[in-house]
Amino acid sequence: MTKPPPQRVFRFAPSPNGFLHLGHAYSALLNFDMARRCGGRLLLRIEDIDQGRSRREYEAAIYEDMAWLGLVWEKPVRRQSEHFDDYAAALEKLDALGLLYACSCSRAEIAQATRARDDWLRDPDGAPLYPGTCREKSHEFAQGAPANRRLNMAKALACAGGAVRWREHGMGEEAREMRADPAQWGDVVLARKGIPASYHIAVVVDDALQGVTDVVRGTDLFHATSVHRLLQRLLDLPEPVYHHHHLALDAGGAKLAKRRGSKTLRMLREEGLSPTDVRRMLGLANEG
Ligand code: GLU
Repeated sequence: MTKPPPQRVFRFAPSPNGFLHLGHAYSALLNFDMARRCGGRLLLRIEDIDQGRSRREYEAAIYEDMAWLGLVWEKPVRRQSEHFDDYAAALEKLDALGLLYACSCSRAEIAQATRARDDWLRDPDGAPLYPGTCREKSHEFAQGAPANRRLNMAKALACAGGAVRWREHGMGEEAREMRADPAQWGDVVLARKGIPASYHIAVVVDDALQGVTDVVRGTDLFHATSVHRLLQRLLDLPEPVYHHHHLALDAGGAKLAKRRGSKTLRMLREEGLSPTDVRRMLGLANEG
C-alpha cells in the first residue's frame, strides 16, 4: 500500500503592532485557500518578539478580522513570545560553531563608518551594509553592555559548505530552483539589545518547530529567504517550499502598509464592505 503524502502545513504570521490592512488579508486568504485546496493545515502565528511594539489589543483585532474574512485556523494560536528559549538554543548552536559575534555599533555609527569608507553599499532593505567594525573585537564586548549579536557571514557561508538553494513556487507557477545569496545582507543581526531574537532566527526556528511545509508570504520577504535558507542549513532544520506572492498595492501603486496609513480592514468593514468585496478587490475567487 502506498503511503498518503504528508499533510501540508501553512501559516499566516502577522505582527500584532497595528490593525490588519488589505495586504495582510491577501496573504491570509491565499494561505487559507491553498491549505484548503490540498487538505492542509493553516496555523496562525502571532509574531510578537518585539514586545515593545506588540499589543494584546492588536492581537485580539487580528482574530476578529480573520474571523470576519471567513478564515478558519488551527488552535491554539502559536505565539513567538512563548518560544524565547527555543530561539536562545538556536543562537547557542550558532555560537558554538563560532559564527556569532557581539556588536555594539549604533545605527548612526554604522552610517558614519559606511560614509567614511565611501562605499554606500546597501542590503536588500536599503540599510547601509554593516562594515564589520566589531567583527574582530567580540571579546571586548562579551562582558560589557548588552550588545547586538551578528552572524559572521563569511564564516557562515564557509560552514554551510556549498551553495544554498530553495524551491520557489511563486503564485502557482512551475517550481523554480533559486540560488540563495545571503552575502548580500552582510553580517546580519540575529539578536538585539532588548529583543532576544531577530525576525530571521525566530522565523526559521518557528517554521521548523511547527512543521511548516509551505511558506506563503509577500515578495517583500523574498530576499530574506536567502538568510532563512542559510540558517536552516546551519541549524540542520527542514526546508519548506516558498511561495512569494505579489503585494497588494493601493490605487497610487504604493505598498499597503500601516506606516503609510493605508485603510485597515476594520475601516473597510465600517464603510460597509463585505468579505466578498474584499476578495473581489484583491482579485481572489470566492470559494464556496
Ligand atoms: N511577521 C511578518 C510580517 O508581518 C511575516 C513573516 C513571514 O511571513 O515570514 O510581515
